[in-house]
Amino acid sequence: MDKQTEFVLRAMEERDVRFVRLWFTDVLGYLKSVAIAPAELEGAFAEGIGFDGSAIQGFTRVYEADMVAHPDPATFQLLPWRGTTQGTARMFCDIRLPDGSPAFADPRYVLKRALRKAADMGFTFYTHPEIEFYLFKEPVVPGEPPIPVDQGGYFDHTTANAGTDFRRHAITLLEQMGISVEFSHHEGGPGQQEIDLRYADALMTADNIMTFRVVIKEVAAMKNMFASFMPKPLENHPGSGMHTHVSLFEGDSNAFYDASAEYNLSKIGRQFIAGLLRHAAEISAVTNQFVNSYKRLAAGSEAPRYICWGQNNRSALVRVPMFKPSKGASARVELRSIDSAANPYLAYALVLSAGLAGIENEYELPEGAEDDVWTLTERQRQSLGIKPLPRSLDTAITLMENSELAAETLGEHVFDFVLRNKRVEYEAYRSQVTPWELRTSLPAL
Ligand code: GLU
Ligand code: MG
Ligand code: MG
Repeated sequence: MDKQTEFVLRAMEERDVRFVRLWFTDVLGYLKSVAIAPAELEGAFAEGIGFDGSAIQGFTRVYEADMVAHPDPATFQLLPWRGTTQGTARMFCDIRLPDGSPAFADPRYVLKRALRKAADMGFTFYTHPEIEFYLFKEPVVPGEPPIPVDQGGYFDHTTANAGTDFRRHAITLLEQMGISVEFSHHEGGPGQQEIDLRYADALMTADNIMTFRVVIKEVAAMKNMFASFMPKPLENHPGSGMHTHVSLFEGDSNAFYDASAEYNLSKIGRQFIAGLLRHAAEISAVTNQFVNSYKRLAAGSEAPRYICWGQNNRSALVRVPMFKPSKGASARVELRSIDSAANPYLAYALVLSAGLAGIENEYELPEGAEDDVWTLTERQRQSLGIKPLPRSLDTAITLMENSELAAETLGEHVFDFVLRNKRVEYEAYRSQVTPWELRTSLPAL
């Protein structure tokens, strides 16, 4: 038994844990959980816990339904809202087939594979997400516009503001679970919040994002509110993005930093960004995986619509913040397309692969765009070579179908499942006759 496993078994007794929840994530990014009694834990470490994979989105074809969840002891944490006596702990799991080989459908495995490739090239991949979400009044009625809990705007601070109190509570719980929070504030929309997690390696970040979503939903429920990570829940207000700051390290040194280069941005940094730009459209069906995701992108309001980069340009897909020489270690670039409803494991795997492709193939970085690209005319954008991100899930699916990078990174199984699932979603949407059509066409036609 290794040290981490021993630590977990000891912590179980010392901390009087009554249940352990084993967590994993389906291909669409929904969290799955099975609770086991403490007595089962040693067996779970040794042999895993079997489950029916065919009942999980994207996991198996029926003839290979048996799957086994193996808890990762490094992810052991108590769920603070379940109390300190007779409490509940959780661990993330790796999913394997009964013969012990990794399940190709496990998003955690997809990310691990991409990280291994980075490691083979000498890099560690760090990510730091800025997670936006809305708080709505209960009850939220499906099919009706939700009602925000407040009328605040960007950085607003008002006394007895529901959002301030909410963020304080949520951050306390996150920190008790070992998830450090860097910034938090009211975002632009009414009831919209943002909480930024401290950077960590991408696997840990992805696990933290899954935990974050649970904590936010729990705290909202305690306060009789509804928290939503839907990309664009309100027609006239900004959507919820999950801008992610990314960086590569070679050992202790930040591979994006070069004090002698323009913007202090190293050649590796330039090539990585070039990779993000070149592959952004073909990975959109994962970074922006729902029909609704494209309504956020279409709306502008600081969500990117065009494929370009710029220093401190908030309308660009990739923003390169100013690197201060004193802070070379924190050199990073911000990818602004990913939304709050993405599967973080798959999205980060694809983002990393896109960047690494830029390094491997030595892509040239196009000119940066310092203007507000929204205000340029179509012709100006064309002459600058600035292409749009896909305008709909339909376009995104078609682009992904032809993407070798996506097929290779996701693996055949996940690649096929995502495409099939997204086609079904888009067809279901396309066949709707919407209230808008009825409103605008019915009287006249
Ligand atoms: N809510 C905006 C988005 O959808 C981002 C606002 C910001 O710059 O933080 O991406
Ligand atoms: Mg924000
Ligand atoms: Mg941002």
